[in-house]
Amino acid sequence: MTPSDIKFGLFADAPDLLSTLPALGKLNKHCPAYIKSAENAQVIARRFARNEMLPKVLEIDEKCTKDPRYFDWDLWKKANDIKLNISPIPEKMGGLGWNALANAVLVEELSSVCLASASNITFNTFGLLGAMVECRTGIVLKIIADMVDAQKKGEPLFWSWAITEPSAGTDMEHGRAMATMRPSTHAQKAPGGYIINGTKCFITNGSLAHYVIANICFDISAPKESMATFLIPTDTKGFSVGTVERKCGQKASQTAEIIFKDVFVPEENLWEPPGRGLRHTREILSITRGFIGVAGLGLARGALAQAINFAAHKKMGTHRLIDEEWVRFIIADIVKEIMIVRHACYNFAIALDTYHVWRMFEELPIKTSLKILPQNFLLSKSLQKLAQTKILDSAGTFYKNKLVSEETVEAFVKHGSAVKVAGTDLAVKVANRVADIVGLEGMSRKHGIEKYFRDAKITQIYEGTNQANRLDLLENEIIPLL
Ligand SMILES: Cc1cc2nc3c(=O)[nH]c(=O)nc-3n(C[C@H](O)[C@H](O)[C@H](O)COP(=O)(O)OP(=O)(O)OC[C@H]3O[C@@H](n4cnc5c(N)ncnc54)[C@H](O)[C@@H]3O)c2cc1C
Repeated sequence: MTPSDIKFGLFADAPDLLSTLPALGKLNKHCPAYIKSAENAQVIARRFARNEMLPKVLEIDEKCTKDPRYFDWDLWKKANDIKLNISPIPEKMGGLGWNALANAVLVEELSSVCLASASNITFNTFGLLGAMVECRTGIVLKIIADMVDAQKKGEPLFWSWAITEPSAGTDMEHGRAMATMRPSTHAQKAPGGYIINGTKCFITNGSLAHYVIANICFDISAPKESMATFLIPTDTKGFSVGTVERKCGQKASQTAEIIFKDVFVPEENLWEPPGRGLRHTREILSITRGFIGVAGLGLARGALAQAINFAAHKKMGTHRLIDEEWVRFIIADIVKEIMIVRHACYNFAIALDTYHVWRMFEELPIKTSLKILPQNFLLSKSLQKLAQTKILDSAGTFYKNKLVSEETVEAFVKHGSAVKVAGTDLAVKVANRVADIVGLEGMSRKHGIEKYFRDAKITQIYEGTNQANRLDLLENEIIPLL
């Protein structure tokens, strides 16, 4: 192999799914449709990342540096046109019907170009996840119908998930830490609903959201016992957006303070009763943490690809930077680590499809309903109304809890934490190592490599700091999934 043959990621045709993960060959033999869907996702996501994102991510980053409220609606609309922002919704209901594996592929591909823009496109499905973990049939159907309707109209329907408060960050995700923390945001009972007061901070899309799913205590001196989950429409009187953070990286994704001043929330918007808020958080984390690991993997791959491109063009007297042996050893080392972390990430995604909420789409009642009921009916208000009746609404929760037990959720928090730490630590390490390769000239803004450096650090902080994720790995034994 000659030096110029080093091809990786963005600028060469990176190897397809099966050649980077040969163990999938066995699955391909028995469930070809499953692998086909992920391969298809890779083609679509890679095309979008290269053709639509790559040419403009530096410009977007620059605009967001000047104005943290700048949001690139043009890129968002292009993603919306091909339904990337509603990818997990079943095809029959208007989405792409992508499983966890296909969504992991999507996250890796988009994050390899810009993790913040990837987050704007893919992480909005948090709203859907927030509903799905509780799995109340009426709510799930309504959210899906609203998201599909918004997609068709080309309008955004953004969700935020609000846990962090100025006086309570890491503590809000941990049972043990919760016992001593003192949050300030609180809810109190009022006729027909609840009144909420306080502030949440560092909320992704808090400045753009139409709905906020928020964990709020009734009694700030007993947060764990009184933590509940609310659905709060942001057009409610008393809701406002405070500061939109000026961050070192991931600038295209807005992170905002949100303020509740005597916000009234009706009874039916209490999604989880007091004492169940932490469980709700853990269940969402059990899905999302692993995807942040995948995003870190994508970032690492993109940073390496940009560095290889730079080094292949940089002249060092009679030869190129990439011909230096020390550079090639660093590259080989990074490729090895990317391969290892990719296995961990996709192992996690396949486990999500097999044991977590995604498996519901494979269960007979849901599979059959999706097969025989017409789309109009599945998205209709009459079905939503029917599903809101007490028996049907709680049937979904009952069924889901039978399929995904509390032990499974905790097992996934652990597996997810391992993947999150592995992927995001890799992102920071690779962004750092490629800076060694390209030097000061390569770290000039125009090459985009320093953006990976800035974006990477943030992945270690959110979705639980990597210290908090390590605590999750330490505190209990690894729980078997079977
Ligand atoms: C870009 C971005 C987007 C975000 N999006 C959201 C969002 O959408 N929704 C949301 O709710 N939050 C969001 N966050 C907040 C994020 O989850 C918190 O920043 C994170 O949980 C850490 O909380 P903190 O910043 O208050 O730090 P702290 O909790 O104050 O932690 C400070 C340091 O102490 C360590 N530490 C704290 N407690 C312990 C302990 N018990 N044991 C060991 N070490 C400990 C931490 O690991 C960290 O190193 C976002 C943050 C960022 C940067």
